Formats: sequence, C-alpha cells, structure tokens
Amino acid sequence: MTADIAIHDAYVLTVDDRNRLYERGTVLVEDGRITEIRTSQDDDAGIAADRVIDGEGKLVMPGLVNAHTHLELTPLLGAFSDLDLLEMMGGMTAIYGHIAEGEYEYLTEAGYELAALNFLAGGVTTSNSMDVRPSAGAETFGEAGLRGFFGVALSDLFWDVPVDEQFARARDFIDEYHDSYDGRIQATICPHDDWSCTRELWERTADLVADYPDLHVHTHLLELEASNTMARSNGATDSLDMLDDVGLLNDQLVAAHFRLADEEDIQRTADAEASVAHCPSIFSYWNTDGDVQWTPVPELREAGVDVGLGIDDHYWHDSYNMFGEARQARLAANLKRSAGQYHSMELVRMLTIEGAKALGVGDEIGSLEPGKRADVILLDVEKPKFTPLTNIPAQVANNAAPADVETVIVDGEVLMAEGAVKTVDTDAVRERAKSAVDRFESETDWELGIGGSEPPNTMNVARDLPKRGPVQLLGRLAVQSAKDKFSF
Ligand SMILES: [Zn+2]
Repeated sequence: MTADIAIHDAYVLTVDDRNRLYERGTVLVEDGRITEIRTSQDDDAGIAADRVIDGEGKLVMPGLVNAHTHLELTPLLGAFSDLDLLEMMGGMTAIYGHIAEGEYEYLTEAGYELAALNFLAGGVTTSNSMDVRPSAGAETFGEAGLRGFFGVALSDLFWDVPVDEQFARARDFIDEYHDSYDGRIQATICPHDDWSCTRELWERTADLVADYPDLHVHTHLLELEASNTMARSNGATDSLDMLDDVGLLNDQLVAAHFRLADEEDIQRTADAEASVAHCPSIFSYWNTDGDVQWTPVPELREAGVDVGLGIDDHYWHDSYNMFGEARQARLAANLKRSAGQYHSMELVRMLTIEGAKALGVGDEIGSLEPGKRADVILLDVEKPKFTPLTNIPAQVANNAAPADVETVIVDGEVLMAEGAVKTVDTDAVRERAKSAVDRFESETDWELGIGGSEPPNTMNVARDLPKRGPVQLLGRLAVQSAKDKFSF
C-alpha cells in the first residue's frame, strides 16, 4: 500500500451520505485524492507514505466551505463594528464607490492576503467571493493553495461605473482566471443583487452567461423588501420572476440570503434546482427589521434546495470564524422561531457538503470519501474544551473555533501543518495589512484607533457617495412603492 499522506488513529467525521463517523480511522491520500477511509489497523503508523500523520486526539473532517463572502475590505475589520445602520450603509457605499473607480487597490490587495491567511488557518478551504476587482483575489488564493470562486460584481444602480466597463472587466476576468491554478480557482458571473440592478443589467448578464454557460451565477436575492419592489419596478412580478424572465433561474444559480422567501419562492427555487447561501451572522448583527421573518432555511432544505453557509462581509461583524456561522444559524433560528430548528449534523453538512453542492462541486469536495479531492482539516480535540468528547457533530457546530484547526490539506497539498501556515508569509501579510490601513487612514477621514473607529462625518460621506446610481436607486424604489400603495 502506498500513499502521499496517511492519517491514522483519528476521529474521522466523513459527512458522507450516511454521516459515517470513525472513532479510530485511517484516511489515505494519493495524487490529490482520497483513496481509502477505514478503521485503523494496528500497523497503520508504519504505512509507506510521504507524510504519516498520527491522528490520535485529532478530529479529521472535510474543509469548510464559505458559500458567500466578500473579501476586499478585510483590513477594515473593526471599522464598522459600532456604527449605526445608516452610518454603516453610507460609509460602505462611499468606499465601494471609490473601489469601483479603481482606488484603494493597496487596501483590497492586502485584504485578499489577510483573508486567505485567516480563512486558511481557520479551516476554510473553499470560498465563494463576489468583489469589485477580484484578480488579486484569484491570484492570492491560487498561490496560497486554496480553492476559490471569484467574480466581478455588476450593478447599474449601486455605483456610477459605466456598465460597458463593468462587463468588459468581467469578461477579462473570466478569460484570464476561470479554471486556473489546477482548477482550484473558478470564475463566476455576479450581478450584485435584486435591488440595485435594472432589467437591462439582468438582460446583459444573461447575454454574458450565454457566452460562458458553464459558469455559476452568484448574486444576492430576497434580502430586503426592496428586492421585490425593484423587481416590480423592472416590470416583473417579484424577484424570482425577474430572474426567470431572463432565463437565470436555474441550477447554475447560487444566491445569498433568501431572508424574505415565501412558500412560492421556496418551491420555485427547488424546482429550478438553484442553491442558497445562508449568512446568519451578518443579518443578526445588521438586522434592518426585527419584524421581518427569519430565513426559512429548514423549509428550503426540506424542499430539496442545497443551502450552504456564508460569512458574508466578515469585516462588518469582525469574524473569521466559519464554525461560528453554524452556531449562529441555529441560535438565530431558534430565537426567532423555536428550539429544535436544526440537528447538529445538518449544520455540519451545511458547513461542508451542502456548501460544496451549492457551488456545484459536491461530487469533488465537501465530504471525505474515496475518489474525492483531498480537502481535509484536522482539529485538535485533546483540549479541555472538548473534554469529554461526546457528540462530535454538536462539538463542531457549537464549540469548535478556528484556533482548534491544526492541519489543513487542499487538493492533497498540506497548506498548514501543526498550526504553521506553509504557503503564506504570515509576517509579511500582517505588515502589509497594517501599512494599508495606515495609508487608508491618511487618505480618508476615517480614524481607526485601538480604542475604536470614527467614520467621516455625514457631510463628508454624503459628498463622497456616487452621484447618480444610488439616487436613481432610491428614486425608483420610491416611485414603485407609491405605485404599489395605490394599485389594487
Ligand atoms: Zn454578500
């Protein structure tokens, strides 16, 4: 028997169809794929492998999948933490307006590096990110050995960048980066959302998809009341109807949020075999309306929709903790509805295999099974916090944290071993992030100090906002809301 990597005598949570869990298991990896998983034998420590990992006291499980995120502003962790909702929205829109115009590149590049480092170290092996200028992201994640889906965010009402230019950038990105880095980096097509895109933008998106039919369409849907209002302003019945009109409601679609999904939306999504990324922390932190229903994830899953978990804009809620999304999914749902919304194993599946299925790669990653790509993480469970080690699925969903991750393997390559990241220069990344924030602070009216942060005053933010897009957006929503009120 030969292998590149052999892990023996470990707890192995496979997340396969039967949720098989080994108390003393062996995992073999060769040529980037898992070749065997079985109960450990007494002489497994002597297996002829390039790397033999003693798994005693370790939990082996699939790498985590961050099914929806944005990474460019990672160095601004802490900047938005204590703002009120309007301040945050204003500050964020102004910053994105500048990034869309090509500014702050030093900040976004440092952001990708910092994100790659922290997510890698916390066991997140696959990320699905929508950003303004994702080239640096594709390269950084590719070089780090991670898996990533990246796409250029497209919108005609969120900022003032000419639509032609945005689509040209999206095409260039796809041509250069799709299926690069041994297939670990994939391009996506990213109309930003259903509340800041006109019908014309959706139609142009459909034209782009027709040229690249293999790519996934990654967007935000049914996030706000404005989602359906904008759809009506676009001449559709509701948000999903808008997508259906242009032929994008299908199995290539992965959409974040679905907070407002009603029964019909759930059924249409299931019928279309589209997927959802649920991002519980961002909505819990920045809740716009406590009276709005909580995301109907149990109903979506019951209907057969693949639902992954996403950390979304992690710099708005100061977290790199993907395990935390499983915990928050449960806490928010149980608080808003009633206890018992999830079984722990369902949350573990959403963190791994369901996230992979949502991204269309469930046959390749997301569980530990012979034949699959070897995206594997090892957690140190020989710690007081995991003692005694009962109910491993519940420990993962409720108690595990990034700091428990010791070893990370992607595509059969060891990216972190016993806590040491091999593919990213940690010190250099930290230095660049610090300098980027210093420069950002010196170029803007933001104050980012150790005691807290101060955004620019409202007048300065207002002066800084994109001039046309957001004004048109608010105007269209106001007109449509008035029409809705007076129509019967
Ligand atoms: Zn998002």
